[in-house]
Parts: sequence; C-alpha cells; structure tokens
Amino acid sequence: MSLIVQKFGGSSVADAESIKRVAKRIVATKKAGNDVVVAVSAMGDTTDDLLDLAHEVAPIPAPRELDMLLTAGERISMALLAMAIRNLGHDARSFTGSQAGMLTDARHGAARIVDVTPGRVREALDDGAIAIVAGFQGFNRGTGDITTLGRGGSDTTAVALAAALDADVCEIYTDVDGIFTADPRVVPKARKLDRVTSEEMLELAASGAKVLYIRAVEYARRHGVTLHVRSSFNNNAGTIVYNPSKPGHDENGDPVEEPIIAGVAHDLSEAKITVVGVPDVPGKAAQIFNIVARSGANIDMIVQNVSAAATGLTDISFTLPKADAQGVLTALTVERDAIGYQALQHDDQIGKLSLVGAGMRTNAGVSAQLFTALYDAGINIEMISTSEIRISVVTRADMLNDAVRAVHRAFGLDGESEAVVYAGTGR
Ligand code: ADP
Ligand code: ASP
Ligand code: MG
Repeated sequence: MSLIVQKFGGSSVADAESIKRVAKRIVATKKAGNDVVVAVSAMGDTTDDLLDLAHEVAPIPAPRELDMLLTAGERISMALLAMAIRNLGHDARSFTGSQAGMLTDARHGAARIVDVTPGRVREALDDGAIAIVAGFQGFNRGTGDITTLGRGGSDTTAVALAAALDADVCEIYTDVDGIFTADPRVVPKARKLDRVTSEEMLELAASGAKVLYIRAVEYARRHGVTLHVRSSFNNNAGTIVYNPSKPGHDENGDPVEEPIIAGVAHDLSEAKITVVGVPDVPGKAAQIFNIVARSGANIDMIVQNVSAAATGLTDISFTLPKADAQGVLTALTVERDAIGYQALQHDDQIGKLSLVGAGMRTNAGVSAQLFTALYDAGINIEMISTSEIRISVVTRADMLNDAVRAVHRAFGLDGESEAVVYAGTGR
C-alpha cells in the first residue's frame, strides 16, 4: 500500500461544487488502495479577503491576531472537505496545524517548521480514515500560539507531511497543468515542463513563479521529497520536480537532457530605493545595509555606481519587497546625517524578469541574447543581477508583461498551443 500526500490550492476548493469534485478525486485515490493525507488551502481568495478585512480595522494588524484570523480560512475548507468525503461514504478526519503536529518557530506570518509530530494523522490512517490537514498553519510550543508559514505556505505543509510520514508521492494540485516555461496568465504560449530540477524550481520560485512556494521547494530538496505538480481539473500528467542524483541525471540515476533555459519568471512585488549622493569612502555601504538589515527587510538586488570624480559622491540602489520599503525609508531618514547622503528616492513601479536554466552554467552568450531580446522589444533595463543559473533584470512595471513575452519568444520557448488556466483569479 502506498501513502500519498495530496495538496489542493485555494482555486481548487473555491466553492461547494469544487470541494465535492476534489472529494471525489481523493476518494478515487483511496479506493485505488492508497493511504491518503490531504493538505488543503483556504477557499478561493479567502486569505486575501481576510487580510483586506484586517487592514480595514487596523492599518498594521497585530501579527498574533492576524495569524489567528488567517488560519480560520483553512479551518473552513478542511472541515467542508472532510464532510464532503464522509458524504461519499468514506471516513475522513480534519486536523488543524497544531493537531497535526506542525511545530514551528514563533515568527508570526513567516514561521518555519521546526518539527512535525503527526501522531494523530497516523492514527487516522491506521483506522482507515483519510486525514485532512489545514495547510499554511502551525503552532509554537514556546508561546503556545498559532502561526502561519507565509503566503503560499500550504505547499510547505504538504511537503513537511510527506517527509515526516515518508510518503511515496507528494502531489500538488493547482489550477494549471503543471509548471510552465512562464506564467500562463502572462504568456499564453507557455509550454508545460514534464520535469524540472529542484535547483531550477528554487530559482523560479524565488523570482516570482508562485506555482510553488519557495520554502516548500527548499524543504523538499532538503528531505529528498519528489514533487508532482498537476491540475486538479483533469488527469493530465503534470510536472515532476526532482533532485538529480548527479548533473544531467534524474533522481534514479538515468540520464536526462537538460535544456539551457527552464523558464522565465516575473515579479511585481518589489520596490527600488536609491540613496543619492553617498560619500564614496570605505564603510558607507556597511552603514547603509546595517540600517536596512536592522529594519528586518530582505534586500534582493544591489547596484552601486562609480562615483563622479568631481564630487566623490556615488548612488546606491537596491530592491526589496514593497511592504518593507516604508520601514527602510524611515530608518535611513533618521540616519541621514550620520551617513551623509543627499537624498532618498523610492520607486514602486518596477518589475523584475528572471531567466532561469541549469544549462546557463555551460553556455556563454545567454546574457547577450537576453539583452538583445529586450532591446528589440524596446524595453529599457534598469538593473541587472545574476546567479550561476539565473539572470534577472529590472524594468518599468508596465513593460514587464511585454518583456516576459518577448524574452520567452526570443529563447524559442513558445509552444504550439495555448496554455489553459482552469480557475483562480490570479490574485
Ligand atoms: P494554488 O491556489 O493552487 O496554490 P497558486 O495561485 O498559488 O495556486 O499558483 C498557481 C498559479 O501560479 C497559476 O495559476 C499561475 O498563474 C501561476 N504561475 C506563475 N508562474 C508559473 C509557472 N512558471 N508555471 C505555472 N504556473 C505559474
Ligand atoms: N491560504 C494561504 C494563502 O493564500 C496559503 C496557501 O494557499 O498556500 O497564502
Ligand atoms: Mg499556491
């Protein structure tokens, strides 16, 4: 008998009909002779709606209370799904994150899983029941409080359960057919990938491809969990995210062909801050980024210009999540005299495009081809950063979708047919 973990995202359980459809699918897996554990997200855009509501009553909601509120979303879907399964004549039990043993640190809104003790889930399986676990939530033993794992965190719940229960498969069901060469909502000609390495998926997720949550990919990589991303709306084959046994080989040691480019990701969630007129002397970058770090912001790209010979002043720009920008601006303003800069600029109309592929390691000229594609499309590049298998550029936000389509086409990634998006609002 196999143990299968299945995760259903919000758009797959958006209403009563969808919940019944998903229940049938889970029951079919059970009937085929498997033990089934399910991680479920909140219905549709529930989490966003709850967040909006919180901000209507308080501009900066208390993190503990926000987690209490948001975890209600998954409680609703898990109970409804268990009811729907029971209605089909199969035993099902729903569990909150804490009941399922999802132990985390105490960081509200971005908690990390520190241990998984799924005793009650095991018990349910031993009794022949299907276990339904609320995604995205955990429990901190120190504070005794409920936590959430960050937006998209139900993916991590599924992977953590799969690792702790030593599941045979971890299936992530969503509203598209798998992982594509670009977001099908932006590039209709995006092609579905049959397989992608966890290394490439990590870079894609870090660069804005929300089809998988980055921490779930990290967790899967660390614990050797193979992920299977597929649509909950059909039985199409989906995409396998695997950990190569060695370069150019799959998880079983069989050779696989590595394409140069795995895909193009885009991200509109960042802002850019420029510190203008910084004295070009040792220690200034250290001073600035210590202040940024103390405000808790995660910075992404950094660019420092050469200083103008006449003034000895330089500009330093960096990107960071939009939500962190205000805190950083305030902290830098307080330290203006100590740093000695002239002005601060804040730009929240930027977009980031990233080209990802393991084959970049061994292929020269990818950057040149990327910059040429953007030039041909009339798109200006404002910042550039690279890793071993990724090149990212910052553009104007309103040019980003055009940029993604142009780059996708230029690298020969366009497919024959249009990708299907089955549900969801893309929110
Ligand atoms: P779920 O609610 O199932 O967790 P998400 O909305 O979090 O679903 O993730 C699925 C969405 O991710 C897709 O509808 C698609 O718009 C988006 N997406 C972004 N990049 C990609 C990509 N490379 N491949 C597939 N989907 C992508
Ligand atoms: N419901 C949570 C969110 O919308 C978690 C998830 O869906 O993965 O972020
Ligand atoms: Mg998701």
